[in-house]
Parts: sequence; C-alpha cells; structure tokens
Amino acid sequence: CGIVGYVGANNAGDFLLNGLRRLEYRGYDSAGIAITNESQFHVTRSVGRIDALAGRLGSNPVDGKLGIGHTRWATHGPATEENAHPHLGGEGEIVLVHNGVIENFQILKNELIEKGYVFSSATDSEVVAHLIAEGLKVTKETPEQPTLRYAQAVQWAIAQLRGTYGIVVAFRDHPDLLIAARFGSPLVLGVGQGEYFVASDSSPLAGCTDRIVYMADHQLAILTPDGFTVLHRDQGKVNVQIQPLEAVE
Ligand code: GLU
Repeated sequence: CGIVGYVGANNAGDFLLNGLRRLEYRGYDSAGIAITNESQFHVTRSVGRIDALAGRLGSNPVDGKLGIGHTRWATHGPATEENAHPHLGGEGEIVLVHNGVIENFQILKNELIEKGYVFSSATDSEVVAHLIAEGLKVTKETPEQPTLRYAQAVQWAIAQLRGTYGIVVAFRDHPDLLIAARFGSPLVLGVGQGEYFVASDSSPLAGCTDRIVYMADHQLAILTPDGFTVLHRDQGKVNVQIQPLEAVE
C-alpha cells in the first residue's frame, strides 16, 4: 500500500520510519523495513501500527545507509508477519517491497517452485522477489557498467508480470544500489544532496528534499549515492524533469 526507499550518506532508518508514518493515512495492516549493513539485509516486520514496528527496532536498531520500507494492505495472504514486506528473493540475494496485485502470480509461482525456489509467504509479491533473483542468473555481468546487470534482471522479471506494481529492490552483492520500477502503482523519486529517496507519494519527502521526479508507467530508476538514472522499458534512458515539491502539492 505504501513504499519508501533510501540510499545516501545518512542512516536510512530515520527516513524509512518517518516516511512510513506519513503514509499511514493510506491505511494498512502490517509494515516492515529492510536495511543493508555490511552486505547483509536486516529485515524487521510487524503486524499492526508503525509504532509496533518502531518498538521492535528500538530494542534492536540497525545502522545502514540503504533501506526500503512498506506498509501493506493485504490482497494475497492474510495480515501476518510472514506475509508482511519486505520479501527476500532467491537465497537472500535480493530484498523487495511491492505495491499492487500480480494477476498471474500462481503460474509464475509454480514455475519458480519447479526451479527450486522456496516460498515463505502466501503473497503475490514474493513471486516478484524470486523472479528477480532468477533474472540475476540469466543476465551477464558487464564490468564497465556494473549496475546494468541488476537493471536487466529487474526488466527481465517485470516483463513477465501481469497486473500492477510499484517495486523497490535492494541487492546483497551491490549494497549501494536501489532499483525502483512501476506499472499502475505510483512512485516518486526525491533528489537530495548525495542522497536519493523513493516513495509511493510525495508526503514522506517533505523536509527531506524539495526536488522530486514523478515516475511514469514502464519506467525503471537506478539509484546510488552518486546519482540516479531513469530508463524506459523499451526506449532506454529517459530525460526526466525534476519538479519542485511545493509547486505540485
Ligand atoms: N499484493 C501485495 C500483498 O498482498 C501488496 C499489497 C499492497 O499493495 O500493500 O502483499
């Protein structure tokens, strides 16, 4: 239902939790965050309010300069901790948050189970996580452009989806990279100084940056602490417009 993501010079956790609080108005049944620290994902999830999630983190704070967060409005699988996002893909190579509904998830899930993927939730979203992990297997490394392979893996996966998605993905083996993609679910990027934000609407970005980019359907964004690039599914790099936050509120 709501998504936040952060990559940059500061600790991700503060933005993620504050951002999720600002998305509370959308309604949700569970929430979670994943923070990358020393190439490990630290995933914390909870049923109920953001305060419940914050309470869990309070006793176990995780530092890290990249992270993703989610408030869930369950469509596939009940509101339990196992079904709360973020979801891991493969053997923990990637972690993902997803808004929307994947209509062909059951067919894809059956194929992934046959390939040996192990599911730990009843969600449609976990299919996307494992599919991107499979995408990493079928794409080749390009040493001169190390982020390209990750974008290609995401493109490969989302090309198979029917339904709607706003996703943000982090990668264990490339711990300063976030990839966001959307079709039918809104996503905005926040452009800061040496830090970049993703959210499902602009409310989490207020006070963090006043420069935002509205992503369009079929677009994919590659974000690192050094900058961001937006690609179109079939048309390559997009020259996006950075808009002032005030003017569009
Ligand atoms: N369909 C997904 C689920 O049930 C995402 C729901 C949402 O957008 O919050 O987990």
